[in-house]
Amino acid sequence: MARLELKNLNKTFSPKVVPVKDISLTVEDGEFLTLLGPSGCGKSTVLRMIAGLEEPTRGQVVLGGEEITFRRPGDRNMAMVFQSYALYPHMTVAENLASGLKLKNVPRAEIKQRVAEVAQLLGLEELLNRKPGQMSGGQRQRVAVGRALVRQAQVFLLDEPLSNLDALLRERVRADLKQIFATQKAPVVYVTHDQTEAMTLSSKVAVLNNGYVQQLAPPDRIYSHPANLFVAGFVGSPQ
Ligand code: ADP
Ligand code: MG
Repeated sequence: MARLELKNLNKTFSPKVVPVKDISLTVEDGEFLTLLGPSGCGKSTVLRMIAGLEEPTRGQVVLGGEEITFRRPGDRNMAMVFQSYALYPHMTVAENLASGLKLKNVPRAEIKQRVAEVAQLLGLEELLNRKPGQMSGGQRQRVAVGRALVRQAQVFLLDEPLSNLDALLRERVRADLKQIFATQKAPVVYVTHDQTEAMTLSSKVAVLNNGYVQQLAPPDRIYSHPANLFVAGFVGSPQ
């Protein structure tokens, strides 16, 4: 299967903007790794380099032992979920769910079956004929996650997928995500500045600051043994 490795990644936008200085991480199959850190610390940049949307200045992205650092995004078999849903407004939920597969020339019958399976998993069966404008934020984000799942990607990348939702909905969709990704075999890399999300969803958390991984450990370990003052201050103390 597909272990994801980041090796000494660096991204230099300009001499003064170097959000990612030297980041190395491994995410095994079935692992849910969260990149946690304050706004502007380079989380999205790391995710975008994994997805191929941004080229590293130095370092490597390796998937299943194969270097893919400069491979085009469309050739990586990764599925990305953004904060802003990025659904097609003119398409129905069913069409949005199927959209990634049509590009890959999957037979119609198989598309239909996979869309039905994912709709059932996410409780979207009743909404398949709606358009994004006719749904709540939580429903839309569920569709965005569904579109990633339909693609049966080798890696799932989620960038602050809950941050546009109100508090109640955020909690509900967070619980949904936990359940959904518990059954996925692919590596998941999740980006957030919200420590509660990081602590409840992840099998491992990488706390980022100043372009480096400050600590990489399971959530309870980060709480009980913060590696430095930054981590202690950022995650706070356990309840
Ligand atoms: P985060 O996701 O942790 O909030 P980002 O990765 O989006 O942080 O951004 C990290 C830093 O890099 C910020 O200072 C941001 O302004 C800068 N940055 C991000 N993308 C670009 C870009 N395309 N060009 C120049 N600077 C960028
Ligand atoms: Mg970001």
